[in-house]
Amino acid sequence: MLFPGAVKTKLPNTGTTIFTIMSALAKEHGAINLSQGFPDFNVDPKLISLVHENMLAGHNQYAPMPGIPALRDVLAQKLESCYGTKIDSEKEITITAGGTQALYTAIAATIREGDEVIVFEPAYDSYVPAIRLHGGIPVQLQLAAPDFQIDWSQVKKAVTAKTRMIIINTPHNPTGMVMTGKDMQQLEKIVHNRDIFILSDEVYEHVIFDGLSHHSVLSYPKLAERSFVVFSFGKTVHATGWKTGYCVAPENLMAEFRRIHQYMVFAVNTPLQYALASYLAEPSTYQNIPAFYQRKRDLICQLLSKSKFDILPCFGSYFLLLDYSNISDEKDTVFAERITREHGVATIPVSVFCKNPPKDMRLIRVCFAKEDQTLAAAAEKLVAINN
Ligand code: PMP
Ligand code: GLN
Repeated sequence: MLFPGAVKTKLPNTGTTIFTIMSALAKEHGAINLSQGFPDFNVDPKLISLVHENMLAGHNQYAPMPGIPALRDVLAQKLESCYGTKIDSEKEITITAGGTQALYTAIAATIREGDEVIVFEPAYDSYVPAIRLHGGIPVQLQLAAPDFQIDWSQVKKAVTAKTRMIIINTPHNPTGMVMTGKDMQQLEKIVHNRDIFILSDEVYEHVIFDGLSHHSVLSYPKLAERSFVVFSFGKTVHATGWKTGYCVAPENLMAEFRRIHQYMVFAVNTPLQYALASYLAEPSTYQNIPAFYQRKRDLICQLLSKSKFDILPCFGSYFLLLDYSNISDEKDTVFAERITREHGVATIPVSVFCKNPPKDMRLIRVCFAKEDQTLAAAAEKLVAINN
């Protein structure tokens, strides 16, 4: 029985996320799933044991609202050693139910009716709906293939008196672009003397290649003072299903973040927080990630070198873009659906991450956070695609 009053949607132009659609399609057709971004290998057994031990030790009730102090202390040390910045673990870090909740809460804390938010596209798909739900106006700037660098003169032109936030994401999903120190300086100039927050999505902070270093806004004091910075344990410990992450922001911004967080989730999974606190105290747990994923990136690139796809450069994240112009002129959504059905590999069509995708864009995204055998089996199928 349906409730008699019509439900007036708050998100009229938003359907089901592409991750749900493509993972379901992969399942339906028994296809190898390189669409939704998640590892198909297991979490370190040491970490699993730590979770178990903490459950047995009785850490099973509500955690303190901002997260357990031991985890926040370890994170403050980690942030200082990685980005050279001192973070007050009591006032400036909140543990969240994944990066997505941190992004949403930061937007909820700051964006009001009519505020403009600059978003670079292709963009992770949770930003725009969160902006709209709070009455904000997304100002979507399209990044151009093949390198997807930010055009700062375009950003300068897009800034108005109503601009309240700029969302950046480095390393970038889905393009693999990473921002440089020069980008950060340009961003500093643009926000200087303006009432603009930065929401910096750094969930792939450790998934960066070719000797490049991750430029966190936390290393740039003039940016950090106005930034909410979002991280995800899902990426750092290969456990996307744990949906745990954290947000870092200066005390005054974090106070507003927590005002909402306390009524959104109150607190997140206690035994995981204890386990993560012990596990991440050992820096090798994250220091090995760049080499681990670089080998996988190189493997998939080598396996696909015989294919008809053009491989775009990837400097970070665990996603690779493939241009299929040599194979088909179908729309990417049609192509991605067809190769799932006919060739048994599920991927993500990139246009769904863009408001105004270029007409000639023929790109799909593959996730290479997979076992070598999965990558080899998927590559064999992709190499066989001729039309
Ligand atoms: N930002 C980006 C760029 C992502 O790719 C993801 C996907 N996992 C998230 C945020 C959300 O992270 P979480 O799964 O921890 O919510
Ligand atoms: N971040 C992952 C991706 O980009 C998936 C997130 C999700 O399923 N919502 O594929």
